[in-house]
Amino acid sequence: MRELFRRQPRFTPAAEAENAEVPDNLFFKCPQCKELNYGKEFQEALRVCQSCGYHAPLSAHERLTLLLDAGTFREWDTGLRPEDPLGFVAGPPGKEESYRAKLDSARRKTNLQEAVVSGEGRINDHPLVVVVCDFGFMGASMGSVYGEKLARAAERAVERGLPLLTVSASGGARMQEGILSLMQMAKTTAALGRLGRTRLPHLSLLVDPCYGGVTASYATVADIVMAEPGARIGFAGQSVIEQITRQKLPEGFQRAEFQLEHGMLDLIVPRRELRDTLTTLLRHYGGASPKITTVTVEAREAQALEVRS
Ligand SMILES: [Zn+2]
Repeated sequence: MRELFRRQPRFTPAAEAENAEVPDNLFFKCPQCKELNYGKEFQEALRVCQSCGYHAPLSAHERLTLLLDAGTFREWDTGLRPEDPLGFVAGPPGKEESYRAKLDSARRKTNLQEAVVSGEGRINDHPLVVVVCDFGFMGASMGSVYGEKLARAAERAVERGLPLLTVSASGGARMQEGILSLMQMAKTTAALGRLGRTRLPHLSLLVDPCYGGVTASYATVADIVMAEPGARIGFAGQSVIEQITRQKLPEGFQRAEFQLEHGMLDLIVPRRELRDTLTTLLRHYGGASPKITTVTVEAREAQALEVRS
């Protein structure tokens, strides 16, 4: 597995310290238990702390490498790039930053065009559609291109009769796109509704941290909602709730274990067991799914272009 990780693009130096690349001969200091993990062993353990089980973040491509059979991933919609419909600029006086500048810096940092990567691949030979977030791209906030890629992925899953797996870590809606980002909650959920009506499964994996409009929409509209151990999952964050309610929240509030106990999750799956668990689920849900006759995403796009011209 470590060899698989080596073939993927590395984390950039601009990423947070815990995201940073850990050379084999160096140590990773766990942010949770402060123990040192030897770099080589840490990578072999899929970036999980050997002392306390802390699951360090993965980039979208590292996640795909971890989950999919080698060489099976075909990426879709790589040319879709977000626009700046509001001409959004924010920040303290003298330090204003435009949305465009933020997008440029996110692109340089992650080598991605948007915060999600979508496509099709296989897990232990089970074909599926997969959509994975990259938290390093503007906190994987959901804007219009994010929503469009996800909706297209769900629609292609319907066209091809394939199950859908989404892996979400997100700060929520992308405020720089205003109402257009909020619309994505309804749009993605509607696309998943079609998937559900064709009896195809949506498997959702929530990884640390998953908040806001993502948790409140497509990520929890799933047949099975899973999480990695210790993942923080919620709508508003703990400190915001404490400030508003003026109450101290219980130990472990919003952690995956807390959410499992309170019925929001179906499963907590350690990183090392993810592939096996997904294989079992795909086998249970699998079999030949009906292929649905429908207007393809490409045909709809061509139609829209015709109308515009
Ligand atoms: Zn630790």
